[in-house]
Amino acid sequence: MAPPGSNDAASRKIGLLGGTFDPIHLAHLRVAEEVREALGLAEVWFIPAGVPPHKRSEPHLSFEERFHLVKLALEDHPAFRALDLEGRRPGPSYTVDTLEELHSLYPEEEFFFILGGDAFQEIQTWRAWRRIPELARLVVVSRGDFSLEKAQALAQELFPTHRLYFVKVTRLDISSTEIRCRRKAGLSIRYLVPEAVFHHIEKAGLYL
Ligand code: ATP
Ligand code: MG
Repeated sequence: MAPPGSNDAASRKIGLLGGTFDPIHLAHLRVAEEVREALGLAEVWFIPAGVPPHKRSEPHLSFEERFHLVKLALEDHPAFRALDLEGRRPGPSYTVDTLEELHSLYPEEEFFFILGGDAFQEIQTWRAWRRIPELARLVVVSRGDFSLEKAQALAQELFPTHRLYFVKVTRLDISSTEIRCRRKAGLSIRYLVPEAVFHHIEKAGLYL
């Protein structure tokens, strides 16, 4: 049998990008695109959280609305897919459960779990965090002032026996929080989110 991670014909490299996506924005898409190119991923699957365990408050939009916006954002990219498995599971959306589920659904695929430096810094608060690099290779991307050097040092401390990936991506200081604030203040969010997402948010009067 081929060792895990070897390039046998049946195994494809799949990136996974989890998040609240409240709403999805252009930095999420650039992260996926740049990691896809850097690691030669066949696809990137976007996985909106049903109930995010780490956020202080509930998402502003329902799972269905956030999922709809993700689908609109991914529409014209042949290698990007939206997965609704966290929305279909009751209770908080733990990454470890999602990775277990993906393993049993797609035993052939090799998974790469992508996360920003901000999220990686808090990984010790995640349920069963030590199991996560057993289920998927971790890919930490640069975000704002979270330096990749710091992430590398933390990775060495937390996961000394695992190989993690660190990808420096184009710095885009965009966050969903800022987008929601701009909407509330009556400011434009055009060019921070994909065109289709912008039009849907405007038409449906979301985040006002
Ligand atoms: P919020 O402000 O509501 O927390 P967010 O912009 O951080 O929203 P999330 O849905 O929390 O978006 O992020 C999903 C994933 O994408 C996380 O791993 C996060 O680190 C990463 N990410 C989000 N925005 C960026 C960005 N501008 N640059 C790099 N990574 C990002
Ligand atoms: Mg966030």
